[in-house]
Amino acid sequence: MPGGYSGKILRVDLSNKEISMEEPEARFYRTYMGGWGIIAYYLLKELPPGVEPLSPDNILIFATGVVTGAPVGGAGRSAVGAKSPLTGGFGEADVGGWWGAELTRAGLDAIIITGKAEKPVYLWIKDGAAEIRPAEHLWGMLTADTQAALREELGEERARVAQIGPAGERLSRIAAVMHDINRAAGRTGMGAVMGSKNLKAIAVRGTGRKEIADQQALRDIARWYVDHYPTTWAGDLQKFGTANGVFQHLEGGLPTRNFQQGTFDEGWEQITGERMHDTILKDRDTCFSCPVGCKRVVEINEGPYQVDPTYGGPEYETLGSLGSSCGVGDLAAVARANELCNAYGLDTISCGVTIAWAMECFERGLLTTEDTGGLELHFGDAATMVQTVELMGKREGFGHLLSEGSYRAAKAIGRGSDAFVMHAKGQEIPMHEPRIKYGLGVGYAVSPTGADHMHNFHDVDYTTEEGIASLRPFGILEPLDFDDLGPAKMRLAAAVIPWQTVCNALGFCMFVASSSNKLKIVEMVQAITGWDTSLHELLEVGERAYTLARAFNAREGFTASDDKISRRFFEPFQEGPSAGNALPVEEFDRARITLYHMMGWDEETGAPTAWKLHQLGVGWVVDELNRHDN
Ligand code: SF4
Repeated sequence: MPGGYSGKILRVDLSNKEISMEEPEARFYRTYMGGWGIIAYYLLKELPPGVEPLSPDNILIFATGVVTGAPVGGAGRSAVGAKSPLTGGFGEADVGGWWGAELTRAGLDAIIITGKAEKPVYLWIKDGAAEIRPAEHLWGMLTADTQAALREELGEERARVAQIGPAGERLSRIAAVMHDINRAAGRTGMGAVMGSKNLKAIAVRGTGRKEIADQQALRDIARWYVDHYPTTWAGDLQKFGTANGVFQHLEGGLPTRNFQQGTFDEGWEQITGERMHDTILKDRDTCFSCPVGCKRVVEINEGPYQVDPTYGGPEYETLGSLGSSCGVGDLAAVARANELCNAYGLDTISCGVTIAWAMECFERGLLTTEDTGGLELHFGDAATMVQTVELMGKREGFGHLLSEGSYRAAKAIGRGSDAFVMHAKGQEIPMHEPRIKYGLGVGYAVSPTGADHMHNFHDVDYTTEEGIASLRPFGILEPLDFDDLGPAKMRLAAAVIPWQTVCNALGFCMFVASSSNKLKIVEMVQAITGWDTSLHELLEVGERAYTLARAFNAREGFTASDDKISRRFFEPFQEGPSAGNALPVEEFDRARITLYHMMGWDEETGAPTAWKLHQLGVGWVVDELNRHDN
């Protein structure tokens, strides 16, 4: 019996208040599998080029994958996509938690939302039946209040809620779609798209079960994960969460003071996972069916920064962006800023990196208190950092401009402030330094979503025999130095990027995936779906999804000249263990072109070639690109 999907995609036209169901063929699921793949398919098929991202014409898609909701660790992920108001290109953010699995239990694989409601609404889905309901009484509420109000109103304590906070309502281009209050589909401004449609929330309750082709085989694999993960990297995640990433300070790779340094000598020990564990950690949390439980729950009941455990706790990306990037080594302040981001619905990475940009500009005299409404933005000033996050969430005062993201804020301010924006395609750089992960720098530059660490490759992981072991099933056998940018490194990128992308399309957590043998994941997909799939097919699905996103961007007018990252990454660190490290300009550019050739993208335009699209079985995209060229 086939499994992994229900075969039902819900369509909601908010302008005409119409709800319908689409039932794609089995072949559709095997070709795109979910998440990024489904999003890229529909955006290319249905969104005309040139649509203003915050207009009613944009399409907002929530998509699970064939693994989402299966009873196996790591199966809690789903994705949100649309044309991005932050980058103007392919927008996608993936997220863990429970909402995606609940959607599959409600018998749906995805939701496609078009148009715009006249007044605020929310969507209520119960076991496949959907209803558009008024949400004026919820508009303006913080996320925890909205979830509580919805559960009470619906009489469903177990309803799972994806929603926007005030930042999304006020169309902040760095607004997140919050899931389960404290899990953010944060990147590329999907919260603003939801806000532009006057859609406050999607509440879901499902009482069904995902169809699994071979229950016993999946039980055995789930058991294997439970036994296996404690011996791997995922085992460390349980104790200290992703916050352990702060140890990148020791290698000189912890983004500090807007990426000016890679070490945070005076503050890093205050924001580690260990420190959190020993001080403010109240509990650990997990995602659907996952034994790892890497999520943090923190609580602070006294002092200047009190924190409600309802909003979870900071991840590494947050500790870096709102902590070291802002020069703030105050764990309580970062935890409070994290709470504010989750309550108002802001992406913590873009929020923190934008504040860090403003701090650097202020210290260089490019911003004054006249611009900032009196805020004195200095690195290390925890109170002002927290105050600025709140202003951004409310879009008040200087926070109104900052919540457009650093790229647009710099355009508005001028005075050369754009030199200090840390971005790719207008999206702020995550907390992984290209000067200690050279190949990742290329990955940021070429990514269709702009800078993103999730569907990318972290080449520092593959510098040892032990590290490279997980890539042997791809035929990659040689470890490579972190600063290698030769063809062998790009071969590695050309394998790992599609792999990361297919994990997204499957709805499978990259932490669990990276602690597992790749062939075990193939077995898992076979057990869930009943398909005679292979590593080759999964890699091709990932490459197909990524390539469709590149094609989407090409149709929107992106070219090879958009595949770049900020100049700072080509300037050497002056101090610390990574002193002297800088991306070499010419090698970087050669590596980018090498990757184009390996991935089948045109050297001049950066668009996927017709041959590549045909090889991936999506020849229809060739017609689509030609139609709009002519
Ligand atoms: S490893 Fe962490 S992020 Fe991944 S599914 Fe488990 S709890 Fe969620």
